[in-house]
Amino acid sequence: MRVGIPRALHYYKFFPFWKKLFDELNVEIILSSPTNKKIVEVGVMHGFGELCLPVKVYYGHALQLINEHPELDFLFVPRYVSELKESFWCPKWISLPDVIKILPNCPKLLNFEVNVKEFPIATAVIELGKQLGKSQSASLGAYKKAQKYYDEYLEFLRKGVSVIHALRLVLRDAPFKVPKRKSKGSIKFLLLGHAYNLFDTYINLDFAKKLNDQDVEVITIENMPEHIFKDPVIVNKKLLNYWRHEEEIMQAIRYFLTKGRNEIDGVIFLISFACGPDSLISELIMHDMKAVGIPYLAIIIDEHSSDSGLLTRVESFTDMIKRKIQKQELKIKQEPKLKIT
Ligand code: SF4
Repeated sequence: MRVGIPRALHYYKFFPFWKKLFDELNVEIILSSPTNKKIVEVGVMHGFGELCLPVKVYYGHALQLINEHPELDFLFVPRYVSELKESFWCPKWISLPDVIKILPNCPKLLNFEVNVKEFPIATAVIELGKQLGKSQSASLGAYKKAQKYYDEYLEFLRKGVSVIHALRLVLRDAPFKVPKRKSKGSIKFLLLGHAYNLFDTYINLDFAKKLNDQDVEVITIENMPEHIFKDPVIVNKKLLNYWRHEEEIMQAIRYFLTKGRNEIDGVIFLISFACGPDSLISELIMHDMKAVGIPYLAIIIDEHSSDSGLLTRVESFTDMIKRKIQKQELKIKQEPKLKIT
């Protein structure tokens, strides 16, 4: 049994869980290639204009699997509706199987719906197993192992490891071993955004590396402690945030507005063009950052983003912060020391 998985969108969040699940069910996974020029071009051609960049890229990955792997028994396009009772995933995630199944020559979709508002994930796994001809007990056994492995993966990320490195280990079936740090960097930024924007190095033009080259240490919300994400963010009494992704981002920001204020020197929010939820919370974050004096930059990426344009913005933001820190340090040095008699 061969199942194709597009290396895009929720791949960057859930792939370790899926991989363990399919391995345990004895199903071979065929992944699309890492994003490249052709994948983006094909995706942009098939995705209609108003779609956000990551969904267009998803089209490109799905079409690569459809066109280059006629041997596939199924294409795995999960439907993530809700993972917590109080929130929803983005509507574009929810409708993904409906739009992908109408692509030309699309093989049968392997249905997997995560919707804890309606039923537990175990039920979704049993349904998935049925389509693959697996018994209920085999599916539940695989689910248990997949969940355990995924929890270990999340714990590994909390040790400060980048998602890109951790996914590489998952693909190689290698143990989760924390790599030796080369250097910490002279300043530290929180890089905000959805995993598919931050860790698909083709669509973000290797953004994290650009920061590392400027001697910046980068952390992302995946590296933050679990307890930060326990309580919901109250924007105001009328406005409750019910988008899951955005909730995670706002929870991380809440930490840096309070206890973690001195742990970072700046925040960069990487947003895909035409992402409605992100453009909304970006405004809220900008106001909050201004209030506490943390430098903040929002960068919108699309299929036309250029390397040099992005580099110029990163360099000027980084230089500005380094200069500000130098000035503060100089001021402290020059302040007359008080003599206590
Ligand atoms: S959250 Fe934004 S970027 Fe992600 S799928 Fe939805 S609209 Fe696109």
